[in-house]
Amino acid sequence: MTSANSKGLVDGCKRSVTYLRVSVTDRCNLHCRYCITHKTQWLPKGQVLTLEEIYRMVRIAVGLGITKVRLTGGEPLCRKDVLGLVARLSRLNGLEDLSLTTNGTLLAAKARALRQAGLQRINISLDTLDAAMFRQLTGSDLFEQVWRGIMAAADEGFEPVKINTVVMNGCNDAQIERLADLSRQYPFHIRFIEYMPIGIDPHGSQDRFMPMDEVRRRLERMGPLVPVANGRSDGPAMRFRFENAPGEIGFIGAMSNHFCHRCNRIRLTADGHLRPCLLSDEQVDVIGPLRSGGSDADLSTLFAETLARKGDEHHLNFCGNGVIRTQMVTIGG
Ligand code: SAM
Repeated sequence: MTSANSKGLVDGCKRSVTYLRVSVTDRCNLHCRYCITHKTQWLPKGQVLTLEEIYRMVRIAVGLGITKVRLTGGEPLCRKDVLGLVARLSRLNGLEDLSLTTNGTLLAAKARALRQAGLQRINISLDTLDAAMFRQLTGSDLFEQVWRGIMAAADEGFEPVKINTVVMNGCNDAQIERLADLSRQYPFHIRFIEYMPIGIDPHGSQDRFMPMDEVRRRLERMGPLVPVANGRSDGPAMRFRFENAPGEIGFIGAMSNHFCHRCNRIRLTADGHLRPCLLSDEQVDVIGPLRSGGSDADLSTLFAETLARKGDEHHLNFCGNGVIRTQMVTIGG
């Protein structure tokens, strides 16, 4: 049984779903190799949810028990008037946590306005501290701009500033020590994330995969990693801290050590679908019902349907089990 009632959204595995990730656009101003995996045309504007439609879906979700919302994409700061959306969402009764994931390229100019609009937390993706490698990985020369964005977020009082790094063998893995060292210099949380074969043939990408255990072993050579207790509303990262460091290190191993049994998330994609799991192509159409006059009650049932399709665990691996055809930019990471 799945339910969307006064107890909130609970799926068939009795997991309470309280977290909605919203991809506000499939467009991005970077072209990260592991994210935009094949040449793509951006969705025509008419096939992307309007900000009003996004707001409506989030409002309904919050009414059903969602308490945490993260805006993502594509690059959310590329979406015109995302600040207006943040401001409206931040006033929703019942929404306790509003955050955003960004590549940081447009953040220096927008950090203050985001803060003033009511954004509470921010994650910035950064896979290298080397400008030349940044160019290779993203196709853009914007490393310095991202760094300025990170500093602007810290200056505006976002706390903690989280930096997300996808670790890829033979690609950026030589950077992990330098990135981890940031946690000794700044109160930043550096979160290492396992590379996931999304939008590509998993077989062909296995050699890029580096399990989090290996990343952790390498960082332990820099000094002892002291465990940090996870709070109730914390995400799936296993948290640590170098002794006396102001910042933290986190490991997220969705492939080698999945955390499906405590997954509390669903996703709303830029093209108007609800997805019960990042690592499955299962989805429920919402753009159709939204645009054919669906009432709030009709749209509420789509959340229950999404929960009903949430598997007990994901089955994606690098041995050909499971294939995600949709690219990450469309789903929203
Ligand atoms: N543009 C924003 C950004 O760069 O953070 C938000 C969207 S991006 C898709 C969200 C996150 O997904 C980023 O941290 C990115 O590194 C991560 N990501 C993309 N493709 C991935 C993959 N194949 N495996 C693991 N993480 C991935």
